[in-house]
Amino acid sequence: MTTTYKNFIGGQWVSPTTGAYFENRNPANQDDLIGMFPASGSEDVDAAVASAQRGFALWKRTPAPARGDVLRRVGDLLAARKEELANLMTREMGKPLAETRGDVQEGIDTAYYAATEGRRLFGHTVPSELANKWAMSMRRPIGVCGLITPFNFPLAIPTWKAFPALLCGNAVVLKPAEDVPHTCTVLVEVLLEAGLPPEVIQLVHGAGEVVGKALVEHPQVPVISFTGSTETGRLVGETCGRMHKRLSLEMGGKNAQIVLDDANLDLALDGVLWGAFGTTGQRCTATSRLILQEGIHDAFVARLASRAATLKLGDGRVVGTDVGPLVNQAALDKVEHYIGVGRDQGATLVCGGERATGGDLDKGYFFQPTIFSGVTAGSRLDQEEIFGPVLSVIKVASAEEAFAVNNGVRYGLSSSVYTSNVNVAFRALQDLDNGITYVNAPTIGAEAHLPFGGVKETGNGHREGGWEVYEFYSETKVGYVDY
Ligand code: NAD
Repeated sequence: MTTTYKNFIGGQWVSPTTGAYFENRNPANQDDLIGMFPASGSEDVDAAVASAQRGFALWKRTPAPARGDVLRRVGDLLAARKEELANLMTREMGKPLAETRGDVQEGIDTAYYAATEGRRLFGHTVPSELANKWAMSMRRPIGVCGLITPFNFPLAIPTWKAFPALLCGNAVVLKPAEDVPHTCTVLVEVLLEAGLPPEVIQLVHGAGEVVGKALVEHPQVPVISFTGSTETGRLVGETCGRMHKRLSLEMGGKNAQIVLDDANLDLALDGVLWGAFGTTGQRCTATSRLILQEGIHDAFVARLASRAATLKLGDGRVVGTDVGPLVNQAALDKVEHYIGVGRDQGATLVCGGERATGGDLDKGYFFQPTIFSGVTAGSRLDQEEIFGPVLSVIKVASAEEAFAVNNGVRYGLSSSVYTSNVNVAFRALQDLDNGITYVNAPTIGAEAHLPFGGVKETGNGHREGGWEVYEFYSETKVGYVDY
């Protein structure tokens, strides 16, 4: 029996007005049909926004600490359902259980952090220039927030957006990525069970070009938060600019791990394996470039290739699996395309380069962990986001050259440097053009109470996480009281 799922609009689970549905299948096993999800239309978005406006009228008057209490219960419920959520997320998206447990934990941490902000959503009292006048600033909710999320962190990224938006008193219309509709369905169940008034949250499934676009273009949605590719983000940005919407963009990356001659090489090796091939290279912070100083280059590449060859591919729910499948056929095609690009540009294929096949692997979108060496700065492998298990190695003579190669791309999410020289480490923090720099750790990882996001064409200056995100989802108002 195939389960057919619904949207959540107007306080109830409802079928799409289009009557159309799309399939959600396990990327590790295409025979495994998870369910049918609504292929919604713009009328569903209209209904969701109208409901969210009603929810907003109620929710904005709920005291912030009480809003925080709801989110604390959300954290408790996510913790109680952690294993179930991790399993369903692995089934629909492919990354192994160790990673999906981490994804749920990020949602739990985000809920508890948001709960505490409910008691800290303060402005300032400020001395007035005039006598007998009291001056203050305060934070107010904005309205209906349209949240558009990618496939690679099916729970964590929706919670990064929804929880602070709700804590600040806004109502939410959530549009999850087509490849991971199930996880957000459970997230909405949890929000309702925790006591969120039903019309404060809406869930509308469907194609980005239809549902996402309608949400971005809707005149009653003053706030859009988008995470996804730079190409889509640019379209979203154009519309939001024209319509004077508040917009947070988190987009593509081309993150580099730098390993200098004086580094702890064992640590650097573990770091790059996890950074490049964890989540099958489909993290926004994935290590897609490895910049090696020439003294350690050859030996490091040889050790890395032999370690990469031992990574076990398969269904992420099976104990011992290191690397799951790519998320869909288009992702697989894109990776295969870039293998051709690497070959054409004269890079050396050190390992991988082909689909992983045989046995159960034939049923999914598996690709061998792949390493190209001899990649030149400025080439397409150095510059373009592949979003798969493909690592490009670039040789440099010095830390200065490594920093220049790191900075020589249009993206700027994360970077990492492995060195035992404290001066170089601090220089890296200062000089690398990224939103996040890790020293002696891989390019990946985030904590809910720290700001997350990128510079240059990765973002538009806003951050998720940390107190910064509460500024994004609230408006500053100033009050003067004469007495
Ligand atoms: P995507 O751009 O294909 O889709 C993202 C979301 O946008 C989906 O929900 C999709 O349905 C929707 N969408 C598609 N077309 C739209 C349109 N015209 N209008 C409005 N919405 C539309 O991205 P993806 O493949 O799901 O995710 C991978 C990308 O996300 C990578 O580029 C990755 O770097 C990026 N990413 C960035 C971060 C970050 O924090 N910087 C985090 C995660 C992922």
